Amino acid sequence: MLNIVLFGPPGSGKGTQSEKLIEKFGLTHFSTGDMLRAELAAETELGLKAKSIMERGELVSDEIIIGMIRNKISGDSGSKGFIFDGFPRTVAQAEALDDLFDELGMKIDVMMGLEVEEQELINRLLKRGQDQGRADDNLDTIKNRIRVYQEQTAPVMGYYETRGKYRGVNGTGSIDDIFNRLCGILEGL
Ligand code: ADP
Repeated sequence: MLNIVLFGPPGSGKGTQSEKLIEKFGLTHFSTGDMLRAELAAETELGLKAKSIMERGELVSDEIIIGMIRNKISGDSGSKGFIFDGFPRTVAQAEALDDLFDELGMKIDVMMGLEVEEQELINRLLKRGQDQGRADDNLDTIKNRIRVYQEQTAPVMGYYETRGKYRGVNGTGSIDDIFNRLCGILEGL
C-alpha cells in the first residue's frame, strides 16, 4: 500500500496534483473539501452545517471531518492506497488519522508539502473564482483561508516532520514539473 498526505496552503495545487498521482499509482482520493461540497450540493444536514463555515473560510469541526474520513476508509479497505488532500488540517485530525490507521494496521508513508508564495496563492485562487465560481474564492475569504492555514494547519507539518515523514516540494513551475518532483520523492521511498 502507498498512503500519502498531500499538504499545502489553499491554492497550492493539491487537487491538480492529486488527480495525476491517482492516475499513475491507482490510489483512492480523499479530498475533505470535495466531500463537504458534495454534502452541500445534496443539502444534507452536515452540508447545511458546513456551508456558512466554508463561506467564511473557517474550518469545519474536527469531529465532523474525522467522522467523514472514518466512514469512507472503512468502505474502501481493499484499496491500493490512499491520497489525502486537504486533510489532516489540524494536529487533532493528524492524531485521529494515526489512531484510525493503527486500528486498521495501516500507516502514512509520506507527507509531501507543496510550497508556494502567498501572492501567487492569492492570484491562483482569484483566477479559479473567476473560472469556476467557487463561493469561497473571493479576496476576503481567500485571505482568511490563508490566515487559518498559517494558524491551525501549518503546525501539522511539524507533526509529520517530527516523525521523519515530511518532504517539502517547490510548488511553482509547470504542472508536469511539479508532478515529476512528487514522483521523484515517491520513487525514492
Ligand atoms: P482549499 O484548500 O482550496 O482551501 P478545500 O476544498 O480543501 O479548499 O476546502 C474548502 C473548505 O472546506 C475549507 O476552507 C474548510 O472550510 C473546509 N474543509 C475542508 N477540509 C477540511 C478539514 N480537513 N477540516 C476542516 N475543514 C475543512
